[in-house]
Formats: sequence, C-alpha cells, structure tokens
Amino acid sequence: MSRICILGGGFGGLYTALQLAQLPWTVQPEIILIDRNDRFVFTPLLYELITDELEPWEIAPTFSELLTGKGIKFVQGNVTAVDIVNCHVTVTNALLPAEVMNFKYDRLALAIGGETPIDLVPGALEYVMTFRTLADAQRLQLKLHQLEQSKPEKIRVCIAGGGASGVELACKISDRLQGLGRVRIVDRNPTILPNSPDSNRVYAEKALASRDIWTDLSTTVSQIGDGEITLNYPNGTDTLPVDIVMWTVGNTFSKLVQSLNLPHSAGRGQIITEPTLQVQGHPQIYALGDLAECRDASGQVLPATAQVAFQQAGYCARNIWASLNNHPLSPFTYLALGEFISLGKDNAAMSMFGQLGIEGMPALVARRLAYLLRMPTLQHQVKVGFNWLSRPLLNLLRSDRQG
Ligand SMILES: Cc1cc2nc3c(=O)[nH]c(=O)nc-3n(C[C@H](O)[C@H](O)[C@H](O)COP(=O)(O)OP(=O)(O)OC[C@H]3O[C@@H](n4cnc5c(N)ncnc54)[C@H](O)[C@@H]3O)c2cc1C
Repeated sequence: MSRICILGGGFGGLYTALQLAQLPWTVQPEIILIDRNDRFVFTPLLYELITDELEPWEIAPTFSELLTGKGIKFVQGNVTAVDIVNCHVTVTNALLPAEVMNFKYDRLALAIGGETPIDLVPGALEYVMTFRTLADAQRLQLKLHQLEQSKPEKIRVCIAGGGASGVELACKISDRLQGLGRVRIVDRNPTILPNSPDSNRVYAEKALASRDIWTDLSTTVSQIGDGEITLNYPNGTDTLPVDIVMWTVGNTFSKLVQSLNLPHSAGRGQIITEPTLQVQGHPQIYALGDLAECRDASGQVLPATAQVAFQQAGYCARNIWASLNNHPLSPFTYLALGEFISLGKDNAAMSMFGQLGIEGMPALVARRLAYLLRMPTLQHQVKVGFNWLSRPLLNLLRSDRQG
C-alpha cells in the first residue's frame, strides 16, 4: 500500500486530503494529514470572532470532527524535519513533545503555509500582536476585554498594514469598541489595499472614514515600546501612546521550510514548483498554498491567498492520484474569482472577476454564502448553515421574552 503524507492542515493540505480520499482508487493508499494544531482555521472569517458574530467552532472545527469516517489518518504533531533522500518526515507529538514519530512516504504534499514576520522593527517582537491563528484571535479578544473593563477613556489601537487584513481588522475592532475606540492604520504605501480592485478600495475608504479610523499613509513604523509607537511620516517623526499594536505586514516562512534542500525562489524564499505543483526536480513532492511559488499562464506569481490554495488542492490531489495510477498530470490553472472584504459588523464589499463591485447587505450575504460553501465537509457546512439561520430566530425569541 502506498502512503501519502500531507504536511499542514490548512487550505492547501486539508482540502488535498479530503479530495484524495474521494478519488477512485483501485488500491486505496494510506492518507496521513499532519498538523501541529487540533483544528483547521477558516481564516477569512477569523475577524468575526472579534465582534462575537461567529463562534470558534464554526470557523475552527477540529480535524477529528472533519475527518471521522473519511479514510484519512490525522496526526497532531509538529513536523521538524523532512528527509528528502530517504523519503521520510519526522514529527514530534504535539501533546507529548518527547515522542518522536517517523513517517515514510511515497508521495508528499508540503502545505505548512507562512508566518507573519515580527522582527522587522525594534520592539515589535516584544509588543505587537499578530492575527493569523485562532490563538491570535483569542488573545486579541482577551486583551480588548481587559481594556474595556479597565479603561474608561479611549482605547488606542494601531494597525500596521493597510492590506485586506489591516482594513478588515480595523473595521471590526472599531465596531466592537464603538465610541471607546481610537483606531489607526499605518502603511508605507500611498494607498490602502494596493492589490485590491478599485471598487473594493473605494468602499473600504468609505467604511474607514465613516468609523473615524485614521489612515497614516506613506508612513512607516520605526519603533515600538511599552505603550507607545514611533511613526515616520513623510514630513517628520512622532511618538504616540498606544494600547494595542496589531502587526499584519508581510509573509515569511518557518525555519523548517527555509532549511529544506529544495529549490527556493530568490525573492520571498518560496518553494518553486512545476505547473503540476511538483517541486522542481522532485516529482514525488508537491508544494502548494502560501509556501509554494506558483505562476499563472502569463508568468505572474500568484498571491498567497486561500483562493489559490483551495484551487491548488484539487489539482494536487488529482495529480498525486494520476502519478500513482500511471495517468498524465495536469498543469494548475488559476481562475481569479474575485475578492470579498468584510467592512465591519454589518458591511462588506465584493468584486467579481475584477469587474462587478458591490457593497453593503448584498455583499455581506454573498460573502457568507460563498464562504459557507467553501467550508470543509458537507456535514460542517450543514451544521454551520443551520446555526446561521437559527441564531437570528433564537435572538428574536430571547429579546421577545426579555421585553
Ligand atoms: C486573518 C486572515 C484572513 C485571511 N483572509 C483571506 C481571504 O479573505 N481570502 C483569501 O483568499 N485568503 C485569505 N487569507 C490568506 C489565507 O489564509 C492563506 O493564503 C491560506 O490559508 C494559505 O493556505 P496554506 O494551506 O498554504 O496555509 P495555512 O492555511 O496557513 O495552513 C498551514 C497549516 O500548517 C500547519 N503548520 C505550520 N507549520 C507546521 C509544522 N511545522 N508542523 C505541523 N503543522 C504545521 C498550521 O497549523 C496550519 O494549519 C487570510 C489570512 C489571514 C491570516
């Protein structure tokens, strides 16, 4: 029996595993999914935890729940090494770090994603908060709660980065804090959302302005201290008091990814793949998601998004199946469907195929529906969908009883 090891249970890895398990195998392989956490995280909806619009189980279901009865073995462990010559991976048990496991593989899918670099500015390592994982979201919730309890005057939040993450965070934090918050976005670019369609940028600017969120553009963070942040504006420097600094800038890769003896791109250090998602020179290893450098038909490097990783997962699964069944492999073709951004509690914007742009309730409903359909497994979609439909009714009943 051949063994397929998938490292990382995010958008690339989990969806590869789920699709692999559904393919028509004549001899069923062993499919092993390895992740250091016990949960998958649907990151595009992570912001909704700040405003208590969603519950953690909805956006971060456990792997054991998702994989029950699917024919996929889940191992909760930290991948510490990949021996490319002898085809095995070394994993330390996430719950018992002294326990080391080794898995030999016939095919390997690398999908352990990226990290947020927080060593770019003096003081950042000690004082900034990141927003990438469920633990990050829960830390932010706790910090906001502590400040709400202890601080009668303004809570000052500074968000480094005016990309989608920075803008979405700013709107949600502002809506949570209401009049108590003073939120500011700092970005070195002259505009927010530099990589987004124009319509989304215009809607986002409107949403930020209506919430009195400051945007310091063409401005860099030069230092962060205990309760203060120093900004370099185009015309001078200022040090401001601050309660929370959120760091949303950049994407880097773990020491493990950097240490792999595989071809890495010169600029960002991603692993270079063939159009089939096989790592260059290593046909039995596939790389996808944020850690893979993948280009579209015109040679453009694709962005590090869930949309790309999700689409790659289908190709990766089919190509692994094809390679084990002597069928030809297909080159990955990316279809850019569009972009959703949440703009606070009751607002969102969407752009389809870079053209059609809408905002407000239609975009909010379309975003939720599209994300529901993208959630892993039909069982989880049904559970979450039912909760989303029944929650407003339950809230209505509760307020009726109280009234
Ligand atoms: C807050 C936020 C919002 C986002 N919103 C959007 C959006 O709206 N639309 C969009 O397209 N993209 C969005 N993205 C980007 C998107 O989340 C990523 O591009 C996508 O998750 C990449 O998928 P991946 O499989 O490469 O990595 P990930 O989904 O990050 O998964 C990597 C997995 O590997 C595991 N892992 C890492 N290291 C190890 C190790 N050593 N051992 C074992 N396991 C390990 C991690 O626990 C994780 O589960 C957002 C990202 C964030 C942080």
